[in-house]
Amino acid sequence: MSEHDAIVIGAGPAGLGVCATLQHAGLKPVILERADQVSPRWHTYYDRLRLQSPRWLTNLPGYRFPRNAGRWPGRDAVIDYLEAYVEHHGLHINFGRTVERIDRDGDRWRVRTSKGDLTSPVVVVATGYNNVPHTPAWDGLDTFERPVLHGSAFKNDEPFRGKHVLVVGAGNSGSEIATVLAEGDAARVTLAVRTTPHVAPRQAFGVPAVLSIVMMRRLPPRIVDLMLAGPTRMKVGNLSRYGLERPDLGLYSKYLADGVTPILDTGIVKMLRAGRIEVARAVQSFDTQHVNLADGSTVSPDVVIAATGYRQGLEPLVGHLGVLADDGRPKVIGPADLPDARGLFFIGYSHPLSGNIRDMALDARRIARTLQGRQPGRRRRSPWRREFDYRKRRATIPHSHSSLTPRRGESDGHAAPNLELAQPTA
Ligand SMILES: Cc1cc2nc3c(=O)[nH]c(=O)nc-3n(C[C@H](O)[C@H](O)[C@H](O)COP(=O)(O)OP(=O)(O)OC[C@H]3O[C@@H](n4cnc5c(N)ncnc54)[C@H](O)[C@@H]3O)c2cc1C
Repeated sequence: MSEHDAIVIGAGPAGLGVCATLQHAGLKPVILERADQVSPRWHTYYDRLRLQSPRWLTNLPGYRFPRNAGRWPGRDAVIDYLEAYVEHHGLHINFGRTVERIDRDGDRWRVRTSKGDLTSPVVVVATGYNNVPHTPAWDGLDTFERPVLHGSAFKNDEPFRGKHVLVVGAGNSGSEIATVLAEGDAARVTLAVRTTPHVAPRQAFGVPAVLSIVMMRRLPPRIVDLMLAGPTRMKVGNLSRYGLERPDLGLYSKYLADGVTPILDTGIVKMLRAGRIEVARAVQSFDTQHVNLADGSTVSPDVVIAATGYRQGLEPLVGHLGVLADDGRPKVIGPADLPDARGLFFIGYSHPLSGNIRDMALDARRIARTLQGRQPGRRRRSPWRREFDYRKRRATIPHSHSSLTPRRGESDGHAAPNLELAQPTA
């Protein structure tokens, strides 16, 4: 059984970022990754994917995206960046090693893996918000005689040429899949919507939506709603005649109230206006040939794509430790660990409007700082931190993270809708 300074589980952006910050804080961390490549999930995303956060707001600590990745880097540019990140920091990754369970073992954590146990006083779980594709158990689904696939399996429009496709779910992934199909040669595209989201421009007057949220998120939600409403009205307009009613609350208030992230427009508005995407009500049930919708109507698509989200799948790993909330997400994330689970951290389990990778980078630094602060005789602010904090942003641990008391407009360290921008909910 090997002993390590720190064990990071998962070699996605969150795991890589936190491993780099721990390494620069003087620890010798190891990453355990079940796949045999860096950030395997990015290899599975659809061909046309581009970041919705601009390149310069999507850097992990200590190494930036190259300028030639463009303003909105594509999937392959993100993969290249993450691979270069590992090389730049010389991160130590143990591939092909699946973590099965984590247990307390005295003052350490025992991590059981497919290739034997490891121990460490510090474990950072970074297995991903989008770990397990989730398809609702609709009545009659098993009797439906046509293909149903999850959005995570979608690559491009090729297999759907000439077909009527029902895309279920109007998160960023669902709307993007519908847009790719509509711009391609699908015969007909229907988008089934349960909760009408806001549709906002990805950028307005040169300012990315993600940046607007970062800058405004400490203002009262109603003010943020008002400030975002103007550009949205001008760039997107009223989509109710296409079936997307305006939500009852403003963009930011809706997110705070229900966790509903806005769709950032990468072509859906044009496709709605062109009649290439038709909006339908939520799916209720299936029979052999039909899909029954909430308004009593039916559709009979050739294929259904369920862009219905993911589960975190943390129960086998840590479900017995009392660290998960009822919805299966960690009770605390980032630099906060629970008194009964000291040294066990979670990163990447929030759904921030200000960009996931940006949020992970901030949390990675905060975790490293927390651990540094716990080492006797170490000053809290250390040179490595200044080196990393190249943007010289305000880098203090927010009050909410250190005390677990939420302040309005910022993350409370709990994984419930945290107040920052969007990842596609798929
Ligand atoms: C379509 C799409 C577009 C996105 N666009 C953006 C964007 O524009 N901007 C942005 O900031 N974010 C975006 N995101 C969100 C987010 O940045 C990515 O999902 C990112 O990959 C999450 O990183 P992660 O490290 O938390 O998780 P993952 O990338 O999912 O990595 C988790 C890793 O853990 C490994 N793992 C899981 N379980 C185990 C186990 N038991 N043992 C060992 N290893 C394990 C997995 O194999 C995986 O490599 C997007 C997400 C999606 C789905």
